[in-house]
Amino acid sequence: MVKREKSVYEPPAHQLALFPEISGNSLNGFGEREVRRPTPIFWHYGKVELPHRALQDYYLKQFDDKPELLDFQNKYGGRGDSTSPDKPDQPTRDSVENWVRAVKEHALAHEGDLVGIARVKPEWVFEGYEVSEPWIIMVGVAMDHAELAKAPSIESPKEVMAQYNRGTRVARSVANFIQSHGYHARPHGGPAAGPLLLIPAAIEAGLGELGKHGSMINREFGSSFRLAGVLTDLPVIADAPDIFGADDFCTNCQICTTACPPDAIKREKNPVRGVEKWYVDFDKCIPYFNDTQGCGICIGACPWSTPGRAPRIAEKMTARRESRG
Ligand code: SF4
Ligand code: SF4
Repeated sequence: MVKREKSVYEPPAHQLALFPEISGNSLNGFGEREVRRPTPIFWHYGKVELPHRALQDYYLKQFDDKPELLDFQNKYGGRGDSTSPDKPDQPTRDSVENWVRAVKEHALAHEGDLVGIARVKPEWVFEGYEVSEPWIIMVGVAMDHAELAKAPSIESPKEVMAQYNRGTRVARSVANFIQSHGYHARPHGGPAAGPLLLIPAAIEAGLGELGKHGSMINREFGSSFRLAGVLTDLPVIADAPDIFGADDFCTNCQICTTACPPDAIKREKNPVRGVEKWYVDFDKCIPYFNDTQGCGICIGACPWSTPGRAPRIAEKMTARRESRG
């Protein structure tokens, strides 16, 4: 039998013309063995230097004739209360254990599905940004997999934006709760980038492992969730990473690499800013991502994302890890 070659998506000339001289993979530190701070590359607004800004502007321009996405911040329940409550002169005194419990209970009672805490590392902070807060409270919100799996149709980015709004509402609510007790808190929700990378923070906070598709895999929701975070000086304790075998599973799985139209997902791990990890080729992914308003085929196709499957695979992979000792 003759094996049919996968037909790989070729970026259109109008997008190729928008690429700068420098590769997005170089900016991302692909192949670099030294740890360094990330360079802003996409989803940064304002005065931040962004060689790929023309590609980002092209992406955002696509929203103009998509009523489902245009002005998404004011749709799908909005983004919550952005006004900070009055801060008392004296912060409320309590034990770190009680603050951890209170802040997590608050997140889960105010639309959050996952919550964990990490100590901020300088190598997560984008060049040109400052973060002085010692802690980040990471929040996850589940996506409707049935909508996500419709990628690359408009239903998928619509669901993504709805969940980014929900994540932002959770982060703002948690920040307001912390501020009302006299501590500092800075919320952030996507899709725009904040001052630091959220994925490494979420991994440290125990929300899951990095998948081959460059997104996270959680033991309950698979890749079907989005992140938000709250930087704070509230006295808390960091959680531990949750290692349940997703990384091992990815080593022997090629579903996302095969499903990705521009063949952007690397099959092996590579050094990226000093860490050996799974990596998505930015220059290959972004034209397809742009023309589909966010793509998401890889996370929709990931077997961990099918509702009900992730806990079963996690159990099997954990048993396998334990039997290896
Ligand atoms: S599709 Fe397979 S290889 Fe890709 S992230 Fe999911 S489990 Fe890993
Ligand atoms: S978002 Fe789409 S183009 Fe980008 S890596 Fe995933 S499947 Fe490939």
